[in-house]
Amino acid sequence: MRHEMWEQLRLSQTPACRGARHLESAHFYTMGGGFNPRRLRIEAGAGLCTCACHKSCPVTDETRLTIPFRDWRDRCTCAGADAERQRLDDAGIDFPDLSEQIEERRRRSRARRDALQTVRAASAGKSRGEIRQMYIDEMRSRGLNLPGEDVIDAHLDFIAGNPVPAMRLAGQSLTQVARALAEIARVFRPNSG
Ligand SMILES: [Zn+2]
Ligand SMILES: [Zn+2]
Ligand SMILES: [Zn+2]
Repeated sequence: MRHEMWEQLRLSQTPACRGARHLESAHFYTMGGGFNPRRLRIEAGAGLCTCACHKSCPVTDETRLTIPFRDWRDRCTCAGADAERQRLDDAGIDFPDLSEQIEERRRRSRARRDALQTVRAASAGKSRGEIRQMYIDEMRSRGLNLPGEDVIDAHLDFIAGNPVPAMRLAGQSLTQVARALAEIARVFRPNSG
């Protein structure tokens, strides 16, 4: 029984890796945990994808079911990790951490929202290229990392009043764009946190 559970957890992979889109995979699978029969203790934290594509990542540890969320966030070098960190930041999702880090994330989440609103407010009559530059400047001036290109495009489409850019990217990284759209809906919702 325990062995089966271990096998099941051991084999968990991100949807990206299961779909052989390894370059989109964030390594981070889910928050969770369970009894680790190899270490004889309960572990809870960031569940990591077990796909071989993460072998060279410094947080990969085959003896553990999960690692502290912070370890994943700070040290994972996998291709999709930045997008996932951004997504969690944007959604204001965090897991028990040092409170000052939580505060820093909140600050960045607010700054991102401010940047998007500033750009949208100033976008009338501007070309897409100009809006894009404004967006980049606003993000940078607030010390924010730029999201991936397709997320930027989704943001720009939204700013331009066309919130349905996903078709264009069908088959590429639809999920990421869908996430960006969900996020932006939240960003512009009145009184959003
Ligand atoms: Zn993989
Ligand atoms: Zn993976
Ligand atoms: Zn990794």
